[in-house]
Amino acid sequence: MSTITCCGMYKCAAHAYGRNMTKPNLSPDAALDRECEQRSEPGFMESVLAKAAHKVVIFHRGKALMAGASLDVLAYVDASALPHELPAGTLQVYLGKVRPGRGHALAPGTALVLLALPDDAGELAWVPELSTFAGYRAAAEHMGGADAEIFIQAQAVANWHSTHTFCPRCGNPTEIQAAGWMRRCGNDGSEHFPRTDPAAIVAIVGADDRILLANNFAWEENRYSTVAGFIEGGESAEAGAVREIAEEVGVHLHSLKYLASQAWPFPRSLMLGFIGYTDDVVATPDLREVRAARWFGRAELQEAVLAGDAVISSRLSIARELIEHWYGGKIVEPGEQE
Ligand SMILES: [Zn+2]
Repeated sequence: MSTITCCGMYKCAAHAYGRNMTKPNLSPDAALDRECEQRSEPGFMESVLAKAAHKVVIFHRGKALMAGASLDVLAYVDASALPHELPAGTLQVYLGKVRPGRGHALAPGTALVLLALPDDAGELAWVPELSTFAGYRAAAEHMGGADAEIFIQAQAVANWHSTHTFCPRCGNPTEIQAAGWMRRCGNDGSEHFPRTDPAAIVAIVGADDRILLANNFAWEENRYSTVAGFIEGGESAEAGAVREIAEEVGVHLHSLKYLASQAWPFPRSLMLGFIGYTDDVVATPDLREVRAARWFGRAELQEAVLAGDAVISSRLSIARELIEHWYGGKIVEPGEQE
């Protein structure tokens, strides 16, 4: 059922990590206070929108408005810069209030609202000059952690709305409530909330302390990364990790240590990062998605990276975090000083 292999492909949640670069949120401090309780109160969204001080993050056709051509900062547009009438079908979601302490350019306490414009929004003449719409994969390389976190949150909730306009029980159109964090069916009263799909991503460590990295058919042949897969209904993250690793590279994990997670917006996944331990020595790639699986010692991996024999995931991906956790420090890239 779930067929993620390794990070690096552009198809699905876990695949995307190899080349994409949001730093995993290893800090428990979120950039925004989502005000989950307050946002469900009647009139909450109206009161936010009525205040001139709020800022908006704008999405159109799956891309976010960035502040400049360099794609390093999300555009936080003043509410006063918006047209009086937004295009029909514009989605508005309360993202939260800026919290102090994340090095964000916005003042703490600033309320942020997502505006997701309909695909057929027409001429966007009011969009600030020099700003550019960019997809997450293009922008992730350049953004800071707080902007990336807000981008992912906005995209995940916008993706959910775009595919949940009708009630799954009765097919009636659903209405947006709770400042954009719930949809309710007017016919049967059922309430629907944005879902997150968990996936396990694992750095596999053998009894001799080497790491097992995999190469996917979709990648160039010298790219190696950790192995990942979606967790199925009724399955623990650990059981899903063990199952996926056995399917993809043919080794049995006898134990797992959870390290950190990373949200991913395609469509709205949560990568749960583990170090997984095995006594197996022989790896058997499935040859459907995984072309090769290779054991590396620490010195061997560092030498392979410097020589260009192995390309590993970007330093800002959770895959890299897992690999460097095993390694015990920073793996030096070609051209970098040790
Ligand atoms: Zn219904």
